[in-house]
Amino acid sequence: MKQLTILSGKGGTGKTTLTASLAVLAGNAVLADCDVDAPDLHMLLHPEVIKTQEFIGSKLAVIDKAKCDNCGVCREKCRFDAITEAIEVDAIACEGCGVCAAICPSDAITMIERVSGYAYISKTKYGLMAHALLSPGESNSGKLVTLVRQNARVLSEKENSDLIIIDGPPGIGCPVIASLSGVDVGLVITEPTMSGIHDLQRALQLIKHFNVKPLVCVNMYDINKDNTDKILGFCEENSIRVVGKIPFNPKVTEAMVNGKTIVEYASESDVAKEIENIWKRCKDSF
Ligand code: SF4
Ligand code: SF4
Repeated sequence: MKQLTILSGKGGTGKTTLTASLAVLAGNAVLADCDVDAPDLHMLLHPEVIKTQEFIGSKLAVIDKAKCDNCGVCREKCRFDAITEAIEVDAIACEGCGVCAAICPSDAITMIERVSGYAYISKTKYGLMAHALLSPGESNSGKLVTLVRQNARVLSEKENSDLIIIDGPPGIGCPVIASLSGVDVGLVITEPTMSGIHDLQRALQLIKHFNVKPLVCVNMYDINKDNTDKILGFCEENSIRVVGKIPFNPKVTEAMVNGKTIVEYASESDVAKEIENIWKRCKDSF
């Protein structure tokens, strides 16, 4: 089974459009939406949830008032100001570090697990999909990404699917690392702007670090051909394969507004044709 992660240095570079289109073209791949902070693959693939799983990503301090003698030590030592003057835990501010429970002289504080989000298994027209949603204000998205990837692996084994397509989170932080480790190919979608080039280079460094095969495609390459040439030059110098250059086309936004992938909505468009080429070149790269 092969795994392909699609990354972008930041949001808004067309990653979801590309991922959803590749899912359509692949036909029987298992999909994993690892952008657990702000998932949006569902807007184009319309998953029907068949299983929901609680995600325990953190802990919460709970004070037993019967045992508490109001000494205030916990309040003083909490770095997150999560214990109020009335010695009550502010559940939103509590980071679950456990310091208060460890230092309470009356053993009045216990740490309980809390639901930090949900992981889902869903059916789409193009295959099964593992996805998730982290609750607002919760951290630990890397752990939830790992759960999504585990779910996707189980699904691909059950379904005898030979490919997992992973929609990676934007950026280069912990959840991106979790979506990249152990995959075969990392496809970075970038745009021809100065910040796009910078983000591309950071994403490629991460891919290299994890010993994953890098591929690049440039979205809206024709909005700044000089910058596109810089990207192509950089990739050539570093022996990185560029699998496609997607032109700007307002049909892409139209397709999104209509909740469809561009390869379904405008299958004869230049964008759809180029994404088909990208898909063929990605397959060759495994
Ligand atoms: S440290 Fe323990 S006993 Fe002291 S105020 Fe906090 S909960 Fe109460
Ligand atoms: S668990 Fe940590 S963050 Fe939460 S109240 Fe205790 S000391 Fe503060």
